[in-house]
Amino acid sequence: MGDIILVTGGTGLVGKGIEYVINNEPANSRFGKRDNETWIFASSSEADLRNLEQTRKLFEKYQPTHVIHLAAVVGGLFKNMNGNATMMRENILINDNVLHTCYERKVKKVISCLSTCVFPDKVEYPLDESKIHLGPPHPSNFGYSHAKRLVDIQNRAYNQQFGCNFTSAIPTNVYGPHDNYDLQDAHVIPALIHKCLLAKKNNKPFVMGGTGKPLRQFIFSRDLAKMFVWQLREYDEPDPVIFSVGEDQEVTIKQVAEAIVKAVGFTGEFAFDTNLADGQYRKPASNKKLLSKMGGFEFTPFEEGLDLSVKWFLENYDTART
Ligand code: NDP
Repeated sequence: MGDIILVTGGTGLVGKGIEYVINNEPANSRFGKRDNETWIFASSSEADLRNLEQTRKLFEKYQPTHVIHLAAVVGGLFKNMNGNATMMRENILINDNVLHTCYERKVKKVISCLSTCVFPDKVEYPLDESKIHLGPPHPSNFGYSHAKRLVDIQNRAYNQQFGCNFTSAIPTNVYGPHDNYDLQDAHVIPALIHKCLLAKKNNKPFVMGGTGKPLRQFIFSRDLAKMFVWQLREYDEPDPVIFSVGEDQEVTIKQVAEAIVKAVGFTGEFAFDTNLADGQYRKPASNKKLLSKMGGFEFTPFEEGLDLSVKWFLENYDTART
């Protein structure tokens, strides 16, 4: 029998990236679908993974041999700050249900998705895989961050006690088609794309909060997808791997905004509201481990990824998450 790969959270930004890569890279290539593989991309409508019985039923239905676990209750700053207990509990439930069911069903390999918010608030940069547990995470989203951190502990514990092949990935900021473009809750790139489009449509200035000076590393969802496929097929250690562009690829929020203006074709007034907070100046993460294990990687240029994201949003405006 072949491999059955279940992707939880398979209908979100990252899951759709994996689906695209699997179906669009040449068959049987390093990242393309292999003849012996069946891929399943599950959404919350198939099973609410906060519920153990529903989780078990999902696994009973598909009988996965491998799992890429992306499903998570995510939210912006406001949802996190006002809901640390809920964010912690719901994510702990999802992760525990998925990982324990994988153990019960003897799933051969599980990759769970963490986030750079697992890292300590006060830590020496660049972030690397050895620094996750060196201090408390940022107080704004400590519930969500601790739930994600716990996955790394669970992976090691299940590996040590039961020999499970459980591991995790830590992506930096992701962007791409199928993102959440909600103006209140979205991450910076989809929020700015949406804002810029509205400014263009309404002939209004495009105003961004903050100075535009903070630096961030952004990874295109389809590049990230290749890394998940690599990790699934070629990496068998419980230790996490950071999935990121290099430290030399940091861009300022101003550069992001300028690239969006270009991609959207906005020609109106473009300004910064410096009364609004900037957030952390920079939090660079190292991709040394990733590149050494993968043997190099050709990243999609930022402007190219952004163009594809804008194009996708324009074409799917009526159905996109806004
Ligand atoms: P999205 O919000 O785009 O997608 C979330 C996915 O999880 C959806 O498929 C959603 O299903 C599913 N889901 C949510 N709640 C449940 C539930 N209770 N039961 C079952 N499924 C559920 O998220 P992303 O694709 O951006 O994120 C995927 C992973 O990547 C997450 O673990 C996130 O923490 C991580 N990550 C994301 C980053 C980013 O910048 N986006 C950065 C770093 C890490 P449905 O469509 O039915 O709602």
